[in-house]
Amino acid sequence: MKIIKLSLELEKNLKGLEDIILIPTMGNLHEGHISLITEAKKISNNIILSIFINPIQFNSKNDLESYPRTLDNDINLLNNTDVSILFNPSEEDIYQKNSKLSYKMPMISNELCGKSRPGHFKGVLTVIDRLFKLIKPSYAIFGKKDYQQLYLIKKFVLESNLSIKIIEAPTIRSTNNLALSSRNNLLSTKDISNAIGLYKQLQICASSVISGEKIYDAELNAKENLLKGGWEIDYFEIRRQADLKKPTCNDLKLVALGAGYFSKIRLIDNIEFCIPATN
Ligand code: AMP
Repeated sequence: MKIIKLSLELEKNLKGLEDIILIPTMGNLHEGHISLITEAKKISNNIILSIFINPIQFNSKNDLESYPRTLDNDINLLNNTDVSILFNPSEEDIYQKNSKLSYKMPMISNELCGKSRPGHFKGVLTVIDRLFKLIKPSYAIFGKKDYQQLYLIKKFVLESNLSIKIIEAPTIRSTNNLALSSRNNLLSTKDISNAIGLYKQLQICASSVISGEKIYDAELNAKENLLKGGWEIDYFEIRRQADLKKPTCNDLKLVALGAGYFSKIRLIDNIEFCIPATN
């Protein structure tokens, strides 16, 4: 695996490479990230993984500063994978003068995670746009764990007429069903066993709605249980899978999404589900 820090050097190394598949990350790699590499390998041998902690997608200095930085461990981990190039650029290289995002952010970017994190998704897309322009991948792969991010990236690619195929990867969980996340490393062992409450409530909420409970009631019940379990809730909502808008009674393909703080650490998760047409 080549480790490249400069975009100019990266461009030289990409010459002649076909079917490039890009995996953007912020490092502190775990099995969730490794699963993206496994999926990528099924598509191409030219796997580029980027590690860039993107300051403009963070809303608090504290969150940015406490984000785990483990580059040496990440490199050791990646040396045992099929990644061809690790791209680990500097901020100067990513935020070049001409790299301002010209894309008009859709309204949905101000809802769910975007509501309490103004500018977050614009920050994400600014980096993704820069990486896409630099690497010109044929494919890019993202996890469903960051459901709204994945949706916005698909929309960006579609509306910008980019010929990049976005691959969606399922959420990888620990044995107790906690979605793997770099932020889990900031939780104590005790907190980790309580943090699974979010996924439990997403499951309960989805099954109640499948059994006919009103969406509002199911959401309320989940929020009450999370509060009792020590969560500070950011949002807990059921939306439509197709466009993340609020569902009408005709919508069958839904997703329950939740975000909140457990011991001051922000965690997110989601679960897709379908209402049987006979309900
Ligand atoms: P991050 O390093 O958190 O920015 O994540 C980089 C990529 O890994 C994103 O596409 C995430 O959605 C994906 N990812 C993070 N955690 C998981 C997980 N538990 N399962 C699958 N994909 C994940």
